[in-house]
Amino acid sequence: MTPTGVTPAMPQMKTSADLRVHNQTRLLRAVHDADQPLTRASAARVLGIGRNTIAALVGELETAGLLHEVPAATTGRGRPTTLLLPHPRGPVAFAADIREDSWTLAQIELGGRLTGLETGEHDRTPAVFDDIRRATRRHATDRLVSLGIALAGPILDGRRLHISHLGWDEVDLYEQIGDDWPPTVVVDNDARLAGLAEARRGALRGAGTALHFHIDFDIGGTLLLGGHTQRGAHNIAGEFGHMPLTGGSGLRCMCGVQGCWSLDVGTNALLRRFGREPGYGAGRQLGREILARAEAGEAEAGRAVDDNAVALGRGLGALANALDPEAITLSGLGVELIRLRRDLIEHACAEGLMEFRRAQPPRILAGTVGEAGPLRGAAETAFDAVLSAGWLRGRI
Ligand SMILES: [Zn+2]
Repeated sequence: MTPTGVTPAMPQMKTSADLRVHNQTRLLRAVHDADQPLTRASAARVLGIGRNTIAALVGELETAGLLHEVPAATTGRGRPTTLLLPHPRGPVAFAADIREDSWTLAQIELGGRLTGLETGEHDRTPAVFDDIRRATRRHATDRLVSLGIALAGPILDGRRLHISHLGWDEVDLYEQIGDDWPPTVVVDNDARLAGLAEARRGALRGAGTALHFHIDFDIGGTLLLGGHTQRGAHNIAGEFGHMPLTGGSGLRCMCGVQGCWSLDVGTNALLRRFGREPGYGAGRQLGREILARAEAGEAEAGRAVDDNAVALGRGLGALANALDPEAITLSGLGVELIRLRRDLIEHACAEGLMEFRRAQPPRILAGTVGEAGPLRGAAETAFDAVLSAGWLRGRI
């Protein structure tokens, strides 16, 4: 198992063979990343290399069973062209999303096509890793190259997992994920992966500086710079929910800090408003009911949702002062809060912005990747871990 987020350095090119495999890697990467299938001409533009070189690279990658070139549908006049697609028998990554009480395993092809494989419940102990290992074995084929796992907590140094909702303290992932797993397994935090999915496949595609927040029982997120999630010195950056951004509650958070933003934003804050002890795992259904009652016009539920939206907006304004994002996306409960209370969120955000910034507030958008964000992000990191010149040399 390896921690995610290591960006390979530009390799030292020694020979023309090195250059060729370097460009093959870039072409495969471009095909994987593209939101529309590339043509040879568009691939040449993206990579900044000549069309003759592209033709040679395409031939080599097709022979290796990695790329597949198909005729494009003709649109009247003009030269017929072809599209560069991932090979139908090419590599796939598996992605697993482990939530508080359930897990999902999916297969993702190069280019991002996702097929669900299996879901299951778990007993809220680290035995769930064994469930994932066995499910991976059940579905694995020789196309499988790597597995990415999304986890609902911070992972110190890429190894020690904390999930306070489940009472998991320093679960050693090196002990859970051993030799009888696929050769490449990468793990990361689910909110960070949801943000990565928005940057690669969703509403943040092409954004330079952006923030993504996933709101469930509380709020977690990530800063994205040029499509890369920020990890920090110990791989635990992004705990924005544990900053006193709203700070008025006077409550102590279960993280040990007083007045965390997470106490005011998310399902737990909705539950507390109705005298329910925050569930940290239970109570999601009740949270959804409170939203539905607010939408139906019930006053107390409406005020609870108002408070959530205002606290969300205020925190976003404060973070925008510090980080200057061009866009902010929300997933989970955040999508519903935008739908029901966009004006309130934007107003509170503007009030939290320094005055000179208010003419150009950050765009606050619903994410477009949806519930599969952590799975899709996990698949991206799984491919990132293998799509390298070294890996390609072994395939060609
Ligand atoms: Zn906290």
